[in-house]
Amino acid sequence: MEVSIEREFERNFQAKFITLPGELEKASSAPYLVSPVISRMGKKAIGLIKAECDEDVLNVIRLCNRYRIPLVARGNGTSTIGQVIPLRESIVIDVNQLNKEISANDTSIRLSPGVRVKDALNYLRKRGKELRVYPSSFYISTIGGYVAGGDVGIGSYQYGYYFDNHGVLRATVAGVNGKEELSGSKVLGIAQAAGANGIVLSVDLPIIDVEEWRDQILSFDSLHDVVNFLKNAENFREKIRRITIEDFATLSIVSGGRVNELKEWNVIVASVLDFGREVELKFLDELAFAAIYVTLSRLTKFTQYFYEVRLLNLPSFLSVVSQVKKALGNSVLIHGDVMTLRKETVVYTVFVSERNNFPLIDEIMRKEGIPFEIHSVEVNDRVDEPWRLELMKSLKKELDPHDIFNPGKLRI
Ligand SMILES: Cc1cc2nc3c(=O)[nH]c(=O)nc-3n(C[C@H](O)[C@H](O)[C@H](O)COP(=O)(O)OP(=O)(O)OC[C@H]3O[C@@H](n4cnc5c(N)ncnc54)[C@H](O)[C@@H]3O)c2cc1C
Repeated sequence: MEVSIEREFERNFQAKFITLPGELEKASSAPYLVSPVISRMGKKAIGLIKAECDEDVLNVIRLCNRYRIPLVARGNGTSTIGQVIPLRESIVIDVNQLNKEISANDTSIRLSPGVRVKDALNYLRKRGKELRVYPSSFYISTIGGYVAGGDVGIGSYQYGYYFDNHGVLRATVAGVNGKEELSGSKVLGIAQAAGANGIVLSVDLPIIDVEEWRDQILSFDSLHDVVNFLKNAENFREKIRRITIEDFATLSIVSGGRVNELKEWNVIVASVLDFGREVELKFLDELAFAAIYVTLSRLTKFTQYFYEVRLLNLPSFLSVVSQVKKALGNSVLIHGDVMTLRKETVVYTVFVSERNNFPLIDEIMRKEGIPFEIHSVEVNDRVDEPWRLELMKSLKKELDPHDIFNPGKLRI
């Protein structure tokens, strides 16, 4: 950064503008990024601003826009898909201190972006409520990061993506022309957009009543039986909060061998209804969605650890997973988060193995997998509805015509 521009940042932000190398290193890092493909892509931040109020955010945007300096928002940096790493030399704006507002009525909660998801949940649970869908990283991540960077989580069997079906009711976003209020379908332009089209300052999310979900385990010898169970479960969707599928090896590793009577395929269901053997599984959050490939990166002994994720409907899940297991047996670990997308049961299927097994796995998946690229930093490769991608792009053109916000993440 030119000295005169750096001075201007110092003049405007004083102690909130940080250029200490250690701090910049942290501000450019993604500690849970375990993809060997994305890990090599990041650049170092050229300055860090710890925003304390909306005015700080608007001022940073104004300066970055004037000098055409990229700006990357940072919650708690828990993204596993590189959303938070700067791809160009950028100013990073830390929004953790924008955490003042938590207020709810009977149907929704209003939150500042720096509020931790767990604090929002604690606030709600005291009132007998919870978020419809929340990430399995709830204990470490922020609301702003979840809205801008996340998509699925606990509750996705009942509700799908967190933003589906009016899952974000309203948002205030800061763009180069100041604050903008978004509502209706336009608000979906910020969901999953990796902060590439503005900085979220406030959101309203719908809430639900807490119910007595009980974790239960069912074990099966064949994948056919698992799929039959999932078809039957569709009749009770509203009463099931969460379903995951684990092969024997995955569940044995994650539980440290502490769960008995496992079979080749094990299904964990959280429901108010009775489905199977009730269990208390303290490690469940380490299994869900992105948590599984982060957890297994620590626990497995693969020398060239690699993973893939695909969204598969039930016929594809049965066909792809049967073929992969037949070819690789226990050298591939399989986890599935069962969710509902556009009223269809879809399995967020995670394959973990040695990297050199993936050409074979990819070939099997390519025949049937829905496009979904977990090793891409570009939002475009994960958004599975063209109309939503178009919405994101048009919001970017409106709020960020010079591509200041997190450039390289959203292909226009
Ligand atoms: C163990 C584990 C489990 C996980 N489970 C899930 C899961 O179940 N579901 C899921 O969706 N994700 C999951 N994740 C990924 C990630 O934790 C979530 O998406 C999380 O909510 C991101 O929050 P964060 O505060 O860490 O955001 P960050 O990582 O800091 O940021 C994420 C993205 O949002 C942008 N951003 C952050 N704040 C703002 C803002 N105020 N305005 C605009 N853009 C902003 C950033 O620039 C970045 O692009 C998991 C990660 C881990 C490590």
